[in-house]
Amino acid sequence: MIYAVNVDPSVIKNRFYRRICIADPSLTKKIHSIVVSIKSFSVCSASVSEIGDAKEEGQLKQYHVEQRFADRRYKVTSARTYFYLNEASCERNTEAFLKSIEAVQGATDSTGLMAIKMTALGRPQLLLQLSEVIMRARNYMQQIAGGMGNVMTHHKTIEDLQRYFGSHSNKPEVQEFMKRITTDKEGPVLIVHLFPWSDILDEDMGLSDTFRVPDPKSGQMRRLISQMSSREEEMFRNMLRRLNTIIQVADKANVRVMIDAEQTYFQPAISRMALEMMKRYNQQKFIVFNTYQTYLKNTYNEILADLEQAKRQNFFWGAKCVRGAYIEQERARAAAMGYEDPTCENVEATTNSFHKCLKLILSQVKEHNNGIGIMVASHNENTVRYAINLMQEHNIKPADKVVCFGQLLGMCDHVTFPLGQAGYSAYKYVPYGPVEEVLPYLSRRANENRGFLAKIKKEKGLLLKEIGRRVFTGQMFYKPVGHYRPV
Ligand SMILES: Cc1cc2nc3c(=O)[nH]c(=O)nc-3n(C[C@H](O)[C@H](O)[C@H](O)COP(=O)(O)OP(=O)(O)OC[C@H]3O[C@@H](n4cnc5c(N)ncnc54)[C@H](O)[C@@H]3O)c2cc1C
Repeated sequence: MIYAVNVDPSVIKNRFYRRICIADPSLTKKIHSIVVSIKSFSVCSASVSEIGDAKEEGQLKQYHVEQRFADRRYKVTSARTYFYLNEASCERNTEAFLKSIEAVQGATDSTGLMAIKMTALGRPQLLLQLSEVIMRARNYMQQIAGGMGNVMTHHKTIEDLQRYFGSHSNKPEVQEFMKRITTDKEGPVLIVHLFPWSDILDEDMGLSDTFRVPDPKSGQMRRLISQMSSREEEMFRNMLRRLNTIIQVADKANVRVMIDAEQTYFQPAISRMALEMMKRYNQQKFIVFNTYQTYLKNTYNEILADLEQAKRQNFFWGAKCVRGAYIEQERARAAAMGYEDPTCENVEATTNSFHKCLKLILSQVKEHNNGIGIMVASHNENTVRYAINLMQEHNIKPADKVVCFGQLLGMCDHVTFPLGQAGYSAYKYVPYGPVEEVLPYLSRRANENRGFLAKIKKEKGLLLKEIGRRVFTGQMFYKPVGHYRPV
């Protein structure tokens, strides 16, 4: 089985590979990419922070541009970082993703997977702005309705909003706002989103004009996003068009698309788009998967809300669960900018969070009539074991096509292969590309953390043991035969 990603053209200086002559990056190239990354954040119209009230601003620092962290590779070793050069570079990335669909389609005799990163498909600044809008909308709902959580989990009706707005609800602009609110189609008509996300992703709706809410005191409409230039609106459309193209092609090729999780300041936007794409493409089967980083304190609540959305809007919910690759940067940024660290306080808390999320998801599988698909993407043997135990507890069979496992190629084969041989769907994450691009990526991963090195040591021990066994039993040319088809 193949799980494909395209890897980083960035070059690094690394102890591990220096000896085998990876061309050292020219300083100019390195500096250039940093300049480009800074540019992609800062040379743009005003960020949302310029328009909201001061109180809100303090809470949303996380979604503001911070020059010190403009180089998104800072303290990130295990994930690829795409830099925005221009729209043409995003087109090239799209082409590369389309090629990886082709590669996966041809290489497996069953459903293959490929991974994409939203920051490869458009200007990252837009994701930051959109994330802030989403968080502002949540805060707005909390201000008017009390309580916590995202808009949908308040379980409010349009009539509730009319009450909050009082006489202002008769104003034409407030009525227009309420007409566009996304509500459930069946059952009690509750609010799902304050904005018509499906239309926003579909049509040529001006973002600056769409993300407006009535001020409950004055009835005046106020923007949750600063006025975007027509060029920025066009860039946003481009990003969505690219995403749509990839998923459409994948849908036809029966390849699943995993949308990677990235830094928390992009995640509200990435998750929103992933969920809307699920709603569109996951009507009959799993095509789109969102990624949930369980090292984040609020991931459990996000999963709860997204599961509820999938149930209410009746689509297949696909999730890749990971611990998360950006912990050091997340913590450094939170400390530098003075907002609460979004990550769990220690490794044990992250593991508890991962297991709690798995427990929640697998406990809902039957209730959703197997409309939940999950990849446990981890090299942690305890987590893999925990997932298998949960499957047994909830009577979920490998053949139910609900749970699969994912590891990197060359990492933890002693976990992946036994899983496959025992009938579980086990995927290998295959970075591919020109040698000079793939090796630096792999060297970063090898350098990632001590935990990985310990895992490699264990794997080496197991391989030596197997070689010894084969020598002593005269099975030197033994080749295991298997017809393992992914389920
Ligand atoms: C197939 C696949 C797809 C992936 N896709 C993504 C993705 O889309 N987005 C993404 O962010 N990552 C992704 N990852 C990487 C993943 O998030 C982890 O970084 C990596 O897999 C290590 O976690 P583990 O469960 O395998 O191993 P472990 O070694 O058990 O866990 C290491 C992880 O624990 C957490 N951790 C470490 N120290 C602490 C601490 N002091 N406090 C709290 N937590 C701590 C960190 O998340 C660290 O990466 C993916 C991994 C795989 C295998």
